[in-house]
Amino acid sequence: MTIVCEMAAPFVANSAVDGGEVSRPFRSHTATCLKCQARHAAMSRTARELAAMHDQRLTAPADLEWRVLSSLEGDLELMRTWRKPLALSAAVLSMAAAIIIWRLRPRTS
Ligand SMILES: [Zn+2]
Repeated sequence: MTIVCEMAAPFVANSAVDGGEVSRPFRSHTATCLKCQARHAAMSRTARELAAMHDQRLTAPADLEWRVLSSLEGDLELMRTWRKPLALSAAVLSMAAAIIIWRLRPRTS
């Protein structure tokens, strides 16, 4: 890939999606550059596949939001506010279970 290929990329993409020719400043380059032609072919294929899917109705999995939010890190992390209460609840439940088990232990005398 040359700098010309990178500059031509948006024009190649538009041509691939629209089905027209690559705009004039990069038309001659694309006509002779195998890498730009390969990029054009790949984008054309993707555009056709997306166009063929236009009437498909897909439903997201019920737990998609949970999976996405729980995988976020950094500033977008939303679950951080839940971590401390969850850890605290787990600790309290463990202590309560230990006390109950201690109180219900069999006594020999
Ligand atoms: Zn090129």
